[in-house]
Amino acid sequence: MSKRDYYDVLGLEKGASKEDIKKAYRKLARKYHPDVNKEADAADKFKEVKEAYEVLSDEGKRAQYDQFGHAGPNQGFGGFGGGAEDFGGFGDIFDMFFGGGGRRQDPNAPQQGADLQYRMVLDFEEAIFGKETDITIPNEETCETCDGSGAKPGTKVETCSHCHGSGQLNQEQNTPFGRVVNRRVCHYCGGKGKVVKEKCNTCGGAGKVKKNKKIHIKIPAGIDEGQQIRIAGKGEPGVNGGPAGDLFVVVQIRPHDFFEREGDNIYCELPINFAQAALGDELEVPTVHGKVKLKVPSGTQTGKMFRLKGKGAPNVRGRGQGDQLIKVRIVTPTNLTERQKELLREFNDLRGNDSTDEQDGSIFKRFKNAFRNND
Ligand SMILES: [Zn+2]
Ligand SMILES: [Zn+2]
Repeated sequence: MSKRDYYDVLGLEKGASKEDIKKAYRKLARKYHPDVNKEADAADKFKEVKEAYEVLSDEGKRAQYDQFGHAGPNQGFGGFGGGAEDFGGFGDIFDMFFGGGGRRQDPNAPQQGADLQYRMVLDFEEAIFGKETDITIPNEETCETCDGSGAKPGTKVETCSHCHGSGQLNQEQNTPFGRVVNRRVCHYCGGKGKVVKEKCNTCGGAGKVKKNKKIHIKIPAGIDEGQQIRIAGKGEPGVNGGPAGDLFVVVQIRPHDFFEREGDNIYCELPINFAQAALGDELEVPTVHGKVKLKVPSGTQTGKMFRLKGKGAPNVRGRGQGDQLIKVRIVTPTNLTERQKELLREFNDLRGNDSTDEQDGSIFKRFKNAFRNND
């Protein structure tokens, strides 16, 4: 097999500048990189391009090659490969591919589709216990008719003859500072590097179609306001065979009439009357897990907190279970009946003798019963 001329491999003239060699190499390496190009001969072409660059980018080797060609005194240049210094430009290319972001220039390189965000509003309890549901999102999908190429099936997508697939044109300008090369988007192909002769009827040449997409979502128990669930690969489709983006479901929780949440703990306020607070009582309090009996001891003051262990929200990462915290608020009674007023006056008269409060059970019992009957 006869070796192709290195300049031909890179699509350059013999006198090409260092800059042009580097540029040509980058363009072709991106095109034939085996991670990107799945054509059978891509790996060989990539190797060929790399070899050409290794020689032409090294001044000494290039001079030798210019003089002797492949049949040079070193029996050709096929054996290059160990020269670490020649890989300088190589790392650059990987950067441009993977994570280079803004520096990506090749319109034919695979690109990941955009991420989508979906805001899901949940009831308080739904967030605590989790939920499974289907959501419908408006979405763009790769057109099945043309497989994303935008071309009518049976017709060809041609590489743009003006930019040779790079999507960019170089414009040379002579300025007082020397020759300047401007790069701009190829207006023949709109920067795509490809030209569709006949457009696909289904997508009108866009390569994508709008389609509502139904996705099954599992909301884990214990999810909290603002947390998000990532569903890999359910975002917008990729370009040039790149992977799809991700879908992020962001959770918003409706406020509850009674409960409030902070982390895995649930807070609520419990209004009791001062007879209950003074005498103590056993009450049924609501939790998200059902009603729970709570003993309020005698002499409970307003603001006192009670903890119901394990009655909060489950930790979304499976680290245990929160508590419910109950803050007591003592409510001064209004709209008292005559009988209640009478008892309160009696109570007030007895207040002069504070030290006996604890012992004098009878008046408090009557007091308590009076309120109970009035419920
Ligand atoms: Zn189509
Ligand atoms: Zn073009």
